[in-house]
This record gives sequence, structure tokens and C-alpha cells, in this order.
Amino acid sequence: MLKLYDTMTREKRAFEPADPSRVTMYVCGPTVYGYAHIGNARPVVVFDVLFRLLRQTYGDKAVVYARNVTDVDDKINKKAADEGVDIKVITDRYLEAYHADMDALGALRPTLEPHATDHIAAMQAQIGQLVERGHAYAAEGHVLFDTQAFPEYGQLSGRNLDEMIAGARVEVAPYKRHAADFVLWKPSKPGEPVWESPWGAGRPGWHIECSAMIEAQLGLPIDIHGGGIDLVFPHHENELAQGRCAHGTDSYARYWMHNGFLDMSGEKMSKSLGNVVIPHDLLKTVPGEVLRWALLSGHYRAPLDWTPELIEQSRRNLDRLYGALQRVQDIEVGEGEPPAAVVEALSDDLNTPKAYAELFALAKILELSKGAERAAAKADLLAAGNLMGFLSAEPDAWFAGAADDDLRAKVEVLLEQRVAARAAKDWPKADAIRGELDALGVVVMDGPAGATWRLKEPA
Ligand code: AMP
Ligand code: ZN
Repeated sequence: MLKLYDTMTREKRAFEPADPSRVTMYVCGPTVYGYAHIGNARPVVVFDVLFRLLRQTYGDKAVVYARNVTDVDDKINKKAADEGVDIKVITDRYLEAYHADMDALGALRPTLEPHATDHIAAMQAQIGQLVERGHAYAAEGHVLFDTQAFPEYGQLSGRNLDEMIAGARVEVAPYKRHAADFVLWKPSKPGEPVWESPWGAGRPGWHIECSAMIEAQLGLPIDIHGGGIDLVFPHHENELAQGRCAHGTDSYARYWMHNGFLDMSGEKMSKSLGNVVIPHDLLKTVPGEVLRWALLSGHYRAPLDWTPELIEQSRRNLDRLYGALQRVQDIEVGEGEPPAAVVEALSDDLNTPKAYAELFALAKILELSKGAERAAAKADLLAAGNLMGFLSAEPDAWFAGAADDDLRAKVEVLLEQRVAARAAKDWPKADAIRGELDALGVVVMDGPAGATWRLKEPA
């Protein structure tokens, strides 16, 4: 039986979908104005495991997973203005990069990927309903949600309105009735995207995007709503308020799930702190399965410290499993069902560390078994890996990739020598090193944060 920790009730609860033939899940997706960092990849990989587990339990066709694309946002506008291009150039470019990176991490594509800009009418309809029902008011070109008209506001995050005022250090806009009221619609600044509306030309607030797309794409209430822990307040609290008040219903999402932060040196990884590591770069030298293993190595609700050692340990763990498979690579097996122990571990609120222990136990059984049992043990390990998004490579290919470790080490040494040669203005030496790198099939790209490299495409 699947049990999930629900942020709303603050306990692990048995998961029962409203309709087992149509299980709905929504996870807040990326704002596409730059490369995703490895912290952003954590919810993607965590909810991918849940998606796979739900499909295993209810059938592939019965699970509808939606993850939105935020393609209207201040940061996108700024990036487009900086480059002097249309915002669509920016959002297309980084959505494509996002797909490539998340594919490489073994994440299945969601069933639906609604774009905010395709749902402006749905957002306006929901705002209209909120105004009509007395839950929102228009003021100076803005429409605001009236938090005082919703007594349960704060229920998800466990805050009350008084605490929110005490916590509000920013100056409160004069058109707000209450400091905690939040924007549903606002005027656009010059040069920003703009849409006509009954309340004046402008653009939507961030929170209305998700509640409108959930209503339009999945229907309310949904079974599972997910995202990182930073989204509980204000984003999910506001989504919930909008979704419920638009229709006067008592449920918006039946289970709320939040992953913990990915940290580096004790600090949350975030673009604003400038301490980000991006899969787009990491993937040039580290296989996607290794990054995925690292991301799932701790329980999803706990913080996860991102270190070079974690990556190396993850690589060694996968090497062990691939090693066991390599020794039986001549045994043909068909597709099997994943063993109960792995399904049970994941069904306990996605206990991935326990599931890893089960994978090693299966590898051990594989090593010790003989004959027909051996084939069954191989099928078990592969099916367990497949359920979690691992062991998709041929063992020989896996280890051939790892043999490139030597190459990697060589390149790193040469790059260091090149930095030293350039610092010493020894241009002939710097050129010679570049030549050596070229002979190794390596392309060097110099950027503001130093040089990165990749292998040349095979001719
Ligand atoms: P953002 O692009 O900041 O809206 O984030 C996209 C998703 O990544 C959201 O679900 C965030 O909660 C999540 N997220 C952002 N930073 C981290 C982090 N350091 N660790 C884990 N999740 C994160
Ligand atoms: Zn959202």
C-alpha cells in the first residue's frame, strides 16, 4: 500500500486516488530563462520516481502528470531585454535545454506540459470568478486576492494573518486592503508582454498560473500536488486559496508533497546566491544515471548536501550493480515485474535509501545464484532498476564510458597547465597545450567562470 507524507495534515497517509482510473499529479515546473541547476532537478527526479511508481500501481494510461512551464515572468523579460530578442526566443531556448537535461537524468516526460501564455484566458476566467464571489477586488489596475475573506488562509503553511503582517518588512502597496493580499493581475511595465483584460491591460500574477492550469488541464481537486519546500508559502498557499475560493469547494489537492533543499556547503543552492552547479555542465563528464543516483541517495524530504564525494560514491554504487550485470550479460532475460521489496520500499513515502539497499541485495542474490535462478535474479535486478530509472545501459557500454576517467584526468591536468601558461603569457606553450587537447578530441570553451570542455562529435 502506498503511503505519502502530506504537508497539509503533517503525517504519512495511505494514498487513495479519487478515481483509480485517472490519477492526477501536478508539479510546479521551471521558469525558463536560464539553465536549470541541480537543485531544480531534485523535484523533477523525485516526482519522476513517484510517477513511475503510480504507473506501476495504476497502469501507465491511468496516471496524468502535469508540469507547467512558466513562460511569462520578470526574469524572462529582463533576459530578453538584455539580449534584445523576443521573450519567445529565450523561453524556447531554455525549455529545449531543460528537456535535454532532464531526459539525461532519466526523468520521463510528464503527460502534459501546459504553458502559462496559452492559459491567459483560463486565468482571467478564474480571476473573474474570484471577483464575482467576493474573494478578490480590483484596485488601480491590479486585482488582488482578499485574504481576509478566506478564514482558512494559512492552513497549508501553518501561518496566520497576524504572523504574516508581523513578518512583512516590505512596504505595503497602498492599493492593498491587507498586507497579506496578493496579486492576481497587474499592469505591465513598458516593453513587457501585455494582455487585454476586464481590469485593464496587463499580465497575470505568478500564483494564478498554476491554479488556472490545474483547473483547465486536470480538473479540481487533483490527487497530488508537488514541488520544493520553498513553494509551500506563499506559492502553494495562494494557489490553494484561489482554487478553492473560485468555486467555493473544500478541496484543491488531496495530498501535498514537498522535497527538501539541495544544499552546497550548508546553504540552499539558488541562482540568487550564485552557488549553482548545472546539469548542463555536469553531464559533459558525469553520466546522467550517476547524477540521478546522487539526487535520490537521501530521503526526498531531508536536505541533501551536494558534494564531489557524493558524485563519486554514486558512481561506485552504480559500478557495483553494473558489474553484477556484466558477469551475467550472456544470460537472456525478458521483461519482468519489479520485486515486491523494492516496490514496498518506494511505497513507504518514497524511501529511496531503503530501495537502494534492496537493489544491492538483489545484486548479491544474482552473484550467488546459479542456473534458472540466475536468470530470474537478473530479471529482478533489471526490473527493479527500471522502476527507479536505473540500469538502462549495456554493462560494457557503461564501463567503456567510465574508462574515459583517464581521459578526464588528463584533460583536467592539461587545462590547469594551460591556465598557468596563459598567466605567464607563455603563448607558444598555451597553443601547444590546446593542440594536445585537440588531438585528444576535446573542444575547450572559455567563459567568464573559466574554461569548460566537451568531446568533439565523432566524425
Ligand atoms: P524555481 O525555478 O526557483 O521556481 O524552482 C523550480 C523548482 O525547483 C521548484 O519546485 C523549487 O522548489 C525547486 N528548487 C529550487 N531550488 C532548489 C534547491 N536548492 N533544492 C531543491 N529544490 C529546489
Ligand atoms: Zn505552481
